[in-house]
Amino acid sequence: MSASRIGILTGLNGNMATVEFHDYVMQNEVAFILHNDERLKSEVIRVTGSRAELQVYEDTKGLKLGEIVEFTGELLSVELGPGLLGQIFDGLQNPLPQLAEKSGFFLKRGLYLEALDNKKEWEFTPVAKIGQKLKPGEKLGFTHEGIFEHWIMAPFVLKGAVEVEKIAIKGKYNIRHVIAELKDEHGDIHPCSMSQVWPVKVPITSFAEKLKPSRPLTTKIRIIDTLMPVALGGTYCIPGPFGSGKTVLQQLISKHAEIDIVIIAACGERAGEVVETLREFPHLVDPRTKKSLIERTVIICNTSSMPVSARESSVYTAVTIAEYYRQMGLNALLLADSTSRWAQAMREMSGRLEEIPGEEAFPAYLENRIASFYERAGLVRLHDGSLGSVTIGGTVSPAGGNFEEPVTQATLKVVGAFHGLSRERSDARRYPAIDPLESWSKYSSFIEDKEIKAAQAVLKRSYEVKQMMKVVGEEGTSLQDFIVYLKGEFIDDVYLQQNAFDEVDAATIEERQKYVFHVLYEIIKSEFSFEDKNTARKFFQSLRQVFIEWNSSEWRTEDFNKKENQVSEAITYRVIKTM
Ligand code: ADP
Ligand code: MG
Repeated sequence: MSASRIGILTGLNGNMATVEFHDYVMQNEVAFILHNDERLKSEVIRVTGSRAELQVYEDTKGLKLGEIVEFTGELLSVELGPGLLGQIFDGLQNPLPQLAEKSGFFLKRGLYLEALDNKKEWEFTPVAKIGQKLKPGEKLGFTHEGIFEHWIMAPFVLKGAVEVEKIAIKGKYNIRHVIAELKDEHGDIHPCSMSQVWPVKVPITSFAEKLKPSRPLTTKIRIIDTLMPVALGGTYCIPGPFGSGKTVLQQLISKHAEIDIVIIAACGERAGEVVETLREFPHLVDPRTKKSLIERTVIICNTSSMPVSARESSVYTAVTIAEYYRQMGLNALLLADSTSRWAQAMREMSGRLEEIPGEEAFPAYLENRIASFYERAGLVRLHDGSLGSVTIGGTVSPAGGNFEEPVTQATLKVVGAFHGLSRERSDARRYPAIDPLESWSKYSSFIEDKEIKAAQAVLKRSYEVKQMMKVVGEEGTSLQDFIVYLKGEFIDDVYLQQNAFDEVDAATIEERQKYVFHVLYEIIKSEFSFEDKNTARKFFQSLRQVFIEWNSSEWRTEDFNKKENQVSEAITYRVIKTM
């Protein structure tokens, strides 16, 4: 590898640069375009003959043909180590607050900072012994990062087994300090510090095996956990039109889901949205630790000053960090918002490369890229037998909310669960606006199957009656059909909808979901007697009121029992038989 390989800038089309070179150039290696005292980071995305095409991760304004380009021989990489949690990075892993401090409000291009604090000392406790044989990813020792034990592992880039030659004694070291020396099979010595570098486009696979996701990941959002659950190590997508609540839903999940680490890849839809995330996040309180939620979160975001190509790197940087924490036996959740912006960046770069376009001008490899991104999710068994997981949830924002477009379709082919948001529901302020009839999941819920099926059947029939009533009116509907309609609306109002602003209702634990859903099940399979539709409507209206109050009372308190009694009293009076 020669660090002095250079080329000459011979063409520029937006963020696509063409470079002529003499030596050789590697696909996906990082290059820098030198412009005055600026060094603009780029990545080689196509090589033909003596010409390389680069996507530039910076604004290319002012660049001149003939400028020098330096090839590094390295792939686009991130630094992994203690100190990632609580950080806000851009797609190239520059810590944004520090970057802003250095260059003012408008981020200066070509300025790259160390991702992790080099000076901060971390207490290292060794666990590996001299002479011990280790596989890449196995534990050398640990430190503490927030509430977690942060493993310091044999570098993932090593191949085959290594032997511990030296290991530091317990003590405080910074992340540049050599804490171990490992000897590989050829006798070469590899000095290791508490941090390591990994190329973002390559999955980290230093584990024993990948397992089928089988345990539910409790999000505490009832409609999800009950009807269309997510599994630990699984994948799901949230397509929805603009303003239907995708971002709010992602935030609720990052706050309440039973997960260790949350990684957010914010590819802003509007310029202000990323700023909103950054402003709001530090104020969110972690219900588990009562501290700021950001202490177990990493945010990767694109600033509006960054070109589209940076969206791609954010998505990969985010998933790599999630995989890193999975290697420590933790459960990480990656939320990508929105993957459509990433796909649009692909389309733009593909257009500039003059590739043969596929559907809606997206490149032919769109499906492939989306699939390989979601494939990085998974539940894994590590070398020491413990389990770790990466769950990926991505929002998709199709124009006009039309799910028949390439990004939504490609995503639906690979994910395990689909939470489709509907404009109709968000307009009616039925939050979360997930469509209970259109959405699905391949994972199993912790609620009994028989109960779910019963509820789904009522929801479906209720919707049909509702549509029919739009034509024939209430008068043209039988009392029996009308009751089914009311039951469906009732399930929706008291269970599927959840008030994000009510402290108790906002998040429902598994035990409570099982308990309440069972009561709901008893109600929907009961036969009621009503004189007429008006009486039926009034009955469900008042039952709804009591039930919603029940939802707001804290689990297993006196108030909870009181409200539950009110619910059952109201029912017994009207029920003629339980089916
Ligand atoms: P999207 O990301 O789909 O464009 P947002 O998540 O930004 O949409 O939501 C748009 C608006 O809808 C929010 O600002 C909020 O007013 C409202 N909203 C969305 N979800 C909820 C919810 N669960 N509870 C209450 N209001 C919500
Ligand atoms: Mg949004």
